[in-house]
Amino acid sequence: MELKLYNSRGRRLETFIPRENGKAGMYACGPTVYNYAHIGNLRTYIFEDILRRTLAYAGYEVTHVMNITDVGHLTDDADEGEDKMQKSARETGRSVWDIAAMYTDAFFRDTDRLGILRPTVVCKATGHIEEMLALVSRLEAKGFTYEAGGNIYFSIDKFPDYGKLALLDRQELMAGARIEVDEAKRNPHDFVLWFTKSKFENQTMLWDSPWGRGYPGWHLECSAMSMKYLGEQFDIHCGGIDHIPVHHTNEIAQSEAATGKSPWVTYWLHGEFLIVDRGKMSKSKGGFLTLDKLMEEGFVPLDYRYFCLGGHYRSQLKFSFDGLASAASARGNLMERIARFDRSAPVPRESLSAEALGLVKDFGEHVCDNLNMPKALADLWTLVKGGLPDGEKITVLAEMDTVLGLDLLKTQDTNLDADIEKLIEERLQARKEKDFARADEIRVQLKERGILLEDGPSGTRWKRL
Ligand code: AMP
Ligand code: ZN
Repeated sequence: MELKLYNSRGRRLETFIPRENGKAGMYACGPTVYNYAHIGNLRTYIFEDILRRTLAYAGYEVTHVMNITDVGHLTDDADEGEDKMQKSARETGRSVWDIAAMYTDAFFRDTDRLGILRPTVVCKATGHIEEMLALVSRLEAKGFTYEAGGNIYFSIDKFPDYGKLALLDRQELMAGARIEVDEAKRNPHDFVLWFTKSKFENQTMLWDSPWGRGYPGWHLECSAMSMKYLGEQFDIHCGGIDHIPVHHTNEIAQSEAATGKSPWVTYWLHGEFLIVDRGKMSKSKGGFLTLDKLMEEGFVPLDYRYFCLGGHYRSQLKFSFDGLASAASARGNLMERIARFDRSAPVPRESLSAEALGLVKDFGEHVCDNLNMPKALADLWTLVKGGLPDGEKITVLAEMDTVLGLDLLKTQDTNLDADIEKLIEERLQARKEKDFARADEIRVQLKERGILLEDGPSGTRWKRL
């Protein structure tokens, strides 16, 4: 199956040709763990999950590597004021390590609920300081660094290809990017590899280094860890579109300068933003929506996944609760239709009819056409509404779901259903008796089992999370 992907490096659609036959290595910039992921971040992880599933569907053995940015200040070149992890620690009375662990757990709870497969390798910045120091040493030995004001900088003037990914010439880069004003820099686009002069007071995450006790610059972790797990050159690097002008540009500069090999990464894929009325949803601005918040409003996580698949990853997607409600109702309708199919005799893949194979082919072509999920969803609907025998539908649904990740064939457990009804009854009784503690306890108990209760004028309804 020919897979076409839009490569930000060169800005064009290209056929995917891996470095090693039958294998695909991809690196995705992971979360900063000083707060919950917002649904904009989660849109990007859903896009990357679809990419990974598509690579597997197209027949590649995928190694998916994702980092966890658990060093609080590594979120921006221009951070000012307080280290975000430290701020969170102070506000909650916990250690920075606890904060990182707590939000890392919360992140995976969200991604699991959204049907996002766990990466093959998850690597923490704090666990790879040695690799980062080795990279700085390599750059130093090759003359790409200088020391100023106690920090070690990467000198972009020593790297003529700087900014190629962003397709901007130097003048435009200078004018366009918002970068930190730092008197010590020789060129405003130089960036710090290693800090010994903390921008933040009371820094607790510090490590020894040949240049003094300090901490790594923002971009270093992704270069060091991706090369450790995928090799000095690899196939795919992805992230949100905001990473093109600074973070990914700097990652390329330091990696190619260190190894002397180009291109460092063959394909660069970037997901567009989830936007709200006020513009881009953003972590540092506050007031963002989390998956838990959507659930409090009565939605289940897969409603949000379905909502995201309704837009192409290269287009901005506008979030609204009305839009999410339409997605939820479409998904509910889909699941009800699927629930009525007879699952007892799925037709083996090799015995599918020409019509069924035609649908599979359309689906495969759409998926492999730069992950065209809106069209893939349309193919799913054609299948579900069409007249193929249930046995064929079930087989094709299972195949489509390896890419869509919508739990299309999740079976209903009738024992569990009876159990839930009993608990709902008990909760109703508790409420009548004004035993609200018991009523709440039952709600929490059910939530832990993946059941969400909704109280409405016509009684209590429940949904699976
Ligand atoms: P962060 O945890 O802030 O480093 O962001 C994690 C990922 O989410 C990165 O790949 C960002 O580019 C991406 N991202 C940030 N804001 C949005 C947004 N509003 N919509 C989609 N992706 C986003
Ligand atoms: Zn990164």
